[in-house]
Amino acid sequence: MNYYDVIVVGGGPAGVSAAKSAAKHGAHTLLIEKCSTIMANKPCGEATSQNTFITANVPPKPSIVLRKVNALVFAPNMKFIEIKEVGFAINKSLFIQYIAEQAAEAGAQIHVREEVQQVIRKNSMMLVKTTHGEYLSKVVIGADGYNSTVAKSLNITEKSEPIPTIQYVMVNCDLEYPNSVRFYLGNEIAPGGYAWIFPKDDRIAGVGIGVRKGTAKVYLDKFVKMFEKEFKNAQIIDYRGALVPIGGMIKQNVVDGAILIGDAAGHVIPFTGAGIHSSIAAGLIAGEVAAKAIAEGDTSQKRLMEFNSKYEEPWGARIKKSLKAMRAFEKLSDNELNMLQEILNAQDILDLANGLNLTNVTFKLLKHPILAVKLAKALM
Ligand SMILES: Cc1cc2nc3c(=O)[nH]c(=O)nc-3n(C[C@H](O)[C@H](O)[C@H](O)COP(=O)(O)OP(=O)(O)OC[C@H]3O[C@@H](n4cnc5c(N)ncnc54)[C@H](O)[C@@H]3O)c2cc1C
Repeated sequence: MNYYDVIVVGGGPAGVSAAKSAAKHGAHTLLIEKCSTIMANKPCGEATSQNTFITANVPPKPSIVLRKVNALVFAPNMKFIEIKEVGFAINKSLFIQYIAEQAAEAGAQIHVREEVQQVIRKNSMMLVKTTHGEYLSKVVIGADGYNSTVAKSLNITEKSEPIPTIQYVMVNCDLEYPNSVRFYLGNEIAPGGYAWIFPKDDRIAGVGIGVRKGTAKVYLDKFVKMFEKEFKNAQIIDYRGALVPIGGMIKQNVVDGAILIGDAAGHVIPFTGAGIHSSIAAGLIAGEVAAKAIAEGDTSQKRLMEFNSKYEEPWGARIKKSLKAMRAFEKLSDNELNMLQEILNAQDILDLANGLNLTNVTFKLLKHPILAVKLAKALM
């Protein structure tokens, strides 16, 4: 029987960060990834903020950061608000691999091509059964994505509301805004979600959609057709879909001997569906909490709940506020979204999307005859 202090299940942004942090804090750590490679195994727009690199302690090297981008948010009438704050279009695979390298340097062991099939709590220890054998650990960190096996094994049935998404990576594009990530809102374009065009290069882009009514692919194909000039000669080289948990954090993400993090726990900013930064932050906190709990000889749910108190500020609070904003926005008609484009500025959009400062936006909307009732009151 192989013994570890901490076993991290899943080598996405959350898992590699948890493994790095647990090992750095002195825990004998194993990271298990079911795919053959530690990389972006799931489709992703691969856009993130500069702060993500600061949180992850990864230098924004040219091999990882493909380009600096600003953001354009389009109302249904195609008028847009420009957010000048610069973010990054990244190579997510290399980013995750860099963090995995840091985890290995800190002493974590990494197994790829090994799938965790079951996790059982047994005599205050966690028994982890995989396709390759069995392990014992004091703490398991479940970073295995939305359909978490760790959650299922431990009878955690609560799930964050998902939005189905589909993304094409398209080449030979003639992008009108090669240095901007573009978001398109509207009930005609993407009911209950949004469509996006995220450049990876002057001629390569991720073009995707998330919808909560109808079939995502039908809406995505319609969306692509809207940009005849840009995609006239383009070809799809990657076509994948996945669920994004946009319903906020699950309540029971910590049990005796285990912490769920990342998509498995709903650690995603609801309004934008962005989860790279919030998952990395969760991983770093979970690894530290697990290692310290083990050093103190207490891996009970009560002790491990320290994760939630450390994550609450700023992440938990942001996720809750962003969810509130999303719930208010999902009731708006296209006309009302067009009105918003006239009223809000770039900072307001950033605050709303990230759940940062809803008070300023709310006061602004309260002055509007229609949006005061529909939106401002819901945000209060
Ligand atoms: C289409 C799309 C576009 C997105 N665009 C963006 C974006 O531009 N910016 C942003 O910030 N976020 C984006 N997101 C969200 C972001 O991708 C996720 O929130 C983030 O990757 C979550 O990280 P994670 O480590 O929790 O989970 P995941 O990235 O899902 O990683 C989970 C890992 O666990 C492994 N695994 C699963 N089960 C097992 C098992 N039983 N045993 C071992 N290993 C297992 C998987 O193979 C995977 O490697 C997007 C999501 C989608 C679907």
